[in-house]
Amino acid sequence: MNLQIINATLPGKTNYWNIAIDNGRISKITPAKSTPEINETVLDAQGKLLIPGLVDAHIHLDKALLLDRYPAVEGTFSEALQKTLQAKQEYTVADIQTRAKTIIEKAIAFGTTAMRTHVEVDPILKLKSMQALLPLKEEYAWGITLQLAVFAQEGITNQPGTTNLLREAMAMGGNVIGSAPYVDPNPQENIRIIFAIAQEFNCDVDFHLDFLDDNAPLLLPVVIEETLKYNWQHRVCLGHMTKLAGLTPTELAAFIPSLKEAGIAILALPATDLYMMARQDTHNVRRGVAPIDRLAESGIKVGIATNNVQNLFTPFGDGDMLKICTLLAQVLQLGTTASHQLCLEMATSRAAQAIGIQDYGIEVDKIADLVLLEANSVSAAMGTAPLNRTTIKEGHIVAQSQCAVKFKENIRF
Ligand SMILES: [Zn+2]
Repeated sequence: MNLQIINATLPGKTNYWNIAIDNGRISKITPAKSTPEINETVLDAQGKLLIPGLVDAHIHLDKALLLDRYPAVEGTFSEALQKTLQAKQEYTVADIQTRAKTIIEKAIAFGTTAMRTHVEVDPILKLKSMQALLPLKEEYAWGITLQLAVFAQEGITNQPGTTNLLREAMAMGGNVIGSAPYVDPNPQENIRIIFAIAQEFNCDVDFHLDFLDDNAPLLLPVVIEETLKYNWQHRVCLGHMTKLAGLTPTELAAFIPSLKEAGIAILALPATDLYMMARQDTHNVRRGVAPIDRLAESGIKVGIATNNVQNLFTPFGDGDMLKICTLLAQVLQLGTTASHQLCLEMATSRAAQAIGIQDYGIEVDKIADLVLLEANSVSAAMGTAPLNRTTIKEGHIVAQSQCAVKFKENIRF
């Protein structure tokens, strides 16, 4: 069945618009004065803002919602690493699935229509996370496009057997290969192994990179070099990159040409980055969020994402990408209408581009993954993360949230 959305406000446009959808794609965008065709399912937006479906380009479903069983005592990065390692020894496939489903369903209700989840593979978990998350791809295809990024969280050269487990996970159905080189005693070799697996499976690459605020040199040049060596342009995505926040504008600018040439995408993960960075600062604590607004201005592919939900790395959050938009705008001091538009793009069309999803956005012929928000402008959506939303996946309404408040009758404002 075809859907027609009428009287919608669109980002960056004045007046109201009608959007016709055919076979899961946007077929027509016309001023709202035109009459909707008959025999269509019509959704009257009543002037509300319609944006492309939210994209969570970097999340860890397998270690989400661990805080109740492992609450923070010290609240430090080393405690997070150590206790999460302990937690994963107790995971079962059913347990991972239960937590993952909770987040996926919340995300669909929030309007997220695509998500890249990292899937931990190592000698402790072996393929348990993959066994848990792989079936969810099909199970939730009605509401969300799920990419599985096979991920070596514990290092590779220091964890014998990991390389083969990564290969096995890719053979099972992984979409992307990645690692966290900063935990590996030989980060350069870690990066090379990941690129070798990417060649073998012809898949995209995703690193957790340049995250710790220590004095170790940037690994970005190594990733750029490998990307160019293998002609892997536009197939590499880097999460965190908090070290970029510590560069002077001149130092940052020096990376722009090679980042562009390599087509590397950079994701800021502000909820985790703000919480974990600069712990040694005694006052006026640095923020440690990659300056993705400036990178976007220079033409680099950028996005934002959730990373963790309610675990020791990020003891808060609910998977709502609009709240991450608000957080980013506050941290990077983005207050103009144009910069709010940019933030929203970083959580939708730009995030989609960063993880290789084609045909995304509100344009004719693009996929009709959309979300209607209880807001009449981009700034209002950014500022309030409204609760009432309608999620549309490939032209079908898949979720509608409606928040009801009941006041006592004698209360007057
Ligand atoms: Zn991550």
